[in-house]
Amino acid sequence: MTASPQANTSRKALVLFSGGQDSTACLAWALQRYAEVETLGFDYGQRHRIELECRLTVRSELARQFPAWGAKLGEDHLLDLSLLGQISDTALTEDRAIAMQANGLPNTFVPGRNLLFLSFAATLAYRRGASVLVGGMCETDFSGYPDCRDNTLKALQVALSLGLDAPMTIETPLMFITKAQTWALTESLGGAALNDLVIEHTHTCYLGERKTRHAWGYGCGSCPACELRARGHAEYIAT
Ligand code: ZN
Repeated sequence: MTASPQANTSRKALVLFSGGQDSTACLAWALQRYAEVETLGFDYGQRHRIELECRLTVRSELARQFPAWGAKLGEDHLLDLSLLGQISDTALTEDRAIAMQANGLPNTFVPGRNLLFLSFAATLAYRRGASVLVGGMCETDFSGYPDCRDNTLKALQVALSLGLDAPMTIETPLMFITKAQTWALTESLGGAALNDLVIEHTHTCYLGERKTRHAWGYGCGSCPACELRARGHAEYIAT
């Protein structure tokens, strides 16, 4: 059952926010709905520093360009999860260089990491008085990685709510939409100005490239993340 907008007006949300297109769409979605919104990022040494810098720029641009959202945007949190490096493939396999796998993820990928991220987020949310976690997990574009699946997150929502003895809702607004529909979602939330903000300030490229600006934003243009983003934008423009 979907709660009415009124039911959300007093709730506080914590958004898993990486500074990429998807989590920026989630942040705007949450700012539209909830009374107060805080953001959480994870620093686990895999992503480029540029992404952590983009997080702060996106936050400040959202607040500047959309004052009503700025009034709701609360604290930002950055958790050091460098310990994930100890259980990644590269750490467990000697002399293996960080490389891109056929599935489009770096081999430093940690299985089930979204379960870890959301559990840390829930603990923080509880302490911050937030009862909603918002994440950009999606079944549509990532071949249904098991820890991104809707049923996995539904089960985790129940486990977290029981374990905390407090309601903890996991919202995933992108779960069943395509990348093209993500652009349409941000347009519906903040018009062309929000899509321009996404293009100009969010970062998705796996290689950390921000020198070349394409119609869809900055990136190398050839890594799996750039290809996905470019294809989604082209589809969005075509419709
Ligand atoms: Zn790229």
